[in-house]
Amino acid sequence: MAMIIDGKKISQQIKEELKEKVALQKAKGKTGALAVVQVGADPASSVYVRNKKNACAFIGIESLAYELPEETSEEELLSLIAELNGKEKVKGILVQLPLPAHINEDKVIQAISPEKDVDGFHPQSVGAMVIGEKGFLSCTPAGIIQLLKRSDIEICGKNCVIIGRSNIVGKPMALLMLRENATVTITHSKTQNLAEVCKQADILVVAMGKPQFIGAEYVKEGAVVIDVGIHRDADNKLCGDVKYGEVEPIASAITPVPGGVGPMTIAMLMNNCVQSIEEG
Ligand code: NAD
Repeated sequence: MAMIIDGKKISQQIKEELKEKVALQKAKGKTGALAVVQVGADPASSVYVRNKKNACAFIGIESLAYELPEETSEEELLSLIAELNGKEKVKGILVQLPLPAHINEDKVIQAISPEKDVDGFHPQSVGAMVIGEKGFLSCTPAGIIQLLKRSDIEICGKNCVIIGRSNIVGKPMALLMLRENATVTITHSKTQNLAEVCKQADILVVAMGKPQFIGAEYVKEGAVVIDVGIHRDADNKLCGDVKYGEVEPIASAITPVPGGVGPMTIAMLMNNCVQSIEEG
């Protein structure tokens, strides 16, 4: 029987801690707002945006909503970002992805001032993470590190295998695991003998975006399994990249979907906002 890593509970603890920090910041006259920009009305994006606004309200920071129509041009969006970069009160800028196809996401990410890049996607934030300098960390991988640490799971010296090499999960995850002194292997769609490689993992992080793909044959007895995937199954129920029922009995610890990695992403976004307000 695996320990179920309770991301809902851990993220709530983090938000409670942040709430206290924000109150202390306010007492010292340090305040700031998170600007949340959404282009179009994709239903999944609207849910994420609403959750982010609610988290801001919970910890006590202001959120400023910019809900732009689908037909907003790239120029208009870039000009809004330039305006937000210049606003003293705005300490964090979040542009909800994906953007409509006519807008270049990379251009938009690079337009955000690195001092306000609370998603940690700007090349300067990524570069700082690579060389271990101060900067905003990518929220989902940073949340996974917190899940492990707060569940007393040792990372130092462990074999960590990551499935997926995306810029928002796989690659930053590898860097943060390396920072915690794990021995890291990154696997991807061209990896040969995936199951064999995964079986070496003490900690297996699955971020491949394939519903219920990873079964028992990929997992070593006693491994820690972190499931980043989020999907809807045939019954419209949320599920991950891992076959939970098959893997849970052989893992020593596992994250459920929902209630594992998902809630941590927003908690770490809030952490980045509080860090930005602190640095003023
Ligand atoms: P992505 O599609 O950008 O990347 C998927 C990666 O998996 C790629 O690098 C690809 O090489 C690898 N891959 C695909 N098929 C493979 C195979 N058969 N064998 C080995 N590797 C394979 O996805 P992403 O943005 O990194 O997201 C991954 C999943 O995590 C998605 O389900 C996404 O919805 C979810 N996600 C969740 C959160 C959260 O907060 N919980 C945050 C971000 C992403």
